[in-house]
Amino acid sequence: MSELTRPIAEEARNGHRPRVVIVGGGFAGIHAARGLANLPVDVTVVDRRNHHLFQPLLYQVALAVLSPADIAQPIRSILRRQANAQVLMDEVVELDVAQRRVRLGSGAQLDYDYLVLATGATHSYFGHNDWEPYAPGLKTVEDAIEIRRRVLLAFELAERHMVEHGWHPPLNFVVIGGGATGVELAGAVSDIAQLYMRHDFRHIDPTKSRVLLIEGSPRVLGAYPPDLSAQAEATLHRLGVEVRTSTHVTVVGPGWVEAGGERIEAVVTLWAAGVQASPLGQMLGCPLDRRGCVVVDDRLNPPGVPEVFVLGDLAHLEQDGRQIPGVAQPAMQMGDHIARILAADLAGQPRPAFRYFDKGDMATIGRMAAVAKVEWPFKAHLTGMPAWLTWIVIHIFFLIGFRNRFSVFWNWVWTYFTFTRGARLITGDQHLPGWNHLEIQVDESDRGR
Ligand SMILES: Cc1cc2nc3c(=O)[nH]c(=O)nc-3n(C[C@H](O)[C@H](O)[C@H](O)COP(=O)(O)OP(=O)(O)OC[C@H]3O[C@@H](n4cnc5c(N)ncnc54)[C@H](O)[C@@H]3O)c2cc1C
Repeated sequence: MSELTRPIAEEARNGHRPRVVIVGGGFAGIHAARGLANLPVDVTVVDRRNHHLFQPLLYQVALAVLSPADIAQPIRSILRRQANAQVLMDEVVELDVAQRRVRLGSGAQLDYDYLVLATGATHSYFGHNDWEPYAPGLKTVEDAIEIRRRVLLAFELAERHMVEHGWHPPLNFVVIGGGATGVELAGAVSDIAQLYMRHDFRHIDPTKSRVLLIEGSPRVLGAYPPDLSAQAEATLHRLGVEVRTSTHVTVVGPGWVEAGGERIEAVVTLWAAGVQASPLGQMLGCPLDRRGCVVVDDRLNPPGVPEVFVLGDLAHLEQDGRQIPGVAQPAMQMGDHIARILAADLAGQPRPAFRYFDKGDMATIGRMAAVAKVEWPFKAHLTGMPAWLTWIVIHIFFLIGFRNRFSVFWNWVWTYFTFTRGARLITGDQHLPGWNHLEIQVDESDRGR
């Protein structure tokens, strides 16, 4: 028994209920909170947003298949039946590990016996934060709505320009980063241009749009086995996406991208290239990896602080010599494991080690294609329609709430058979960064596309 667990076990026997503060209501935080439902602890979940977001389907909001409410649910409603849990919408701005206290943006403070940090990660511009206004990344509902605005607005501005001037700047969409998010975005933008928009405009031809996917490493989906990467690239080509691998983006400007020594005019640029951990990890004063993730042991603790757990994308945990990936499954499994550890502490037992059970990975590429590396219940590499159907079933299954499942399923069926997108709304202003520049820069040869 550790120095920490002995008093906690004794206090629990004397009726003291340990206070567990969970920061972050993502996959890891929600699974941690729900797992503690039947333990004699008091749980406070703090999130700066009021909703839990199913990020794997965010690109479908960005590309107008789903509405935000289909993939997000108030944290408060997820935990409403859990008597030992309360929810605070607030931002944690400071950690005091010595005093076991967190300070919130509102000025309030919360004391804890256990702290669970699950604040995730966000996109990184590799030190070029000035690129962000020209190339938004995808992490939040707001990001998805902004990407949707830009993609849909590009077609509208082109139509308007065509009516006024008889030509329009080329509709080039550039996606930077060939990981799962970049591949999904590129495939979906291509689908919009080739399938969903083609009958909607009178003056422009959306099918003449170009979609470019730029990846710095030699293959897309670099974390997947080479055969699935190759299959993904072939599928992207079939959809009309120009894939440029081993190509580094050196500058992103308003309406253009410089990559591999070439300047590419871009009506919309999307960023899916880098990830960095939530800055909260730094406040622990514990070792971090190069992306700012907190290095934890197999009990999910940073060294020397057994009352603090770091989970999900914010954690750097190695298993069998490899880092556990920053995806949804490990985050959920780490969240579930917190209840086992706390139950052991309350019983005065040694803490069980966490072990990640890898069930596989999958990424979609447009309307009816996907690649899947299945590890459980059987081992297989799936591609095409079987992978896509597997993807659909799994994503429906993991959505929280019956209403969301039904609504997403219905939207997919509707989109699939009618070729119409459910949420094709442009909200916000009618400004595209770089549009004026494209109007001026356009080469004579591009006119009339
Ligand atoms: C576009 C996209 C697509 C993805 N696709 C897939 C996929 O297909 N399959 C897959 O397995 N994984 C996918 N992922 C990765 C997966 O979503 C993450 O691995 C997972 O969400 C990590 O869970 P988490 O709980 O660690 O963090 P998150 O889910 O990011 O949750 C972190 C929470 O912390 C809150 N927070 C952050 N800072 C603070 C603060 N200071 N105070 C209070 N609250 C705070 C945030 O509001 C958020 O609710 C995708 C991610 C993205 C962005």
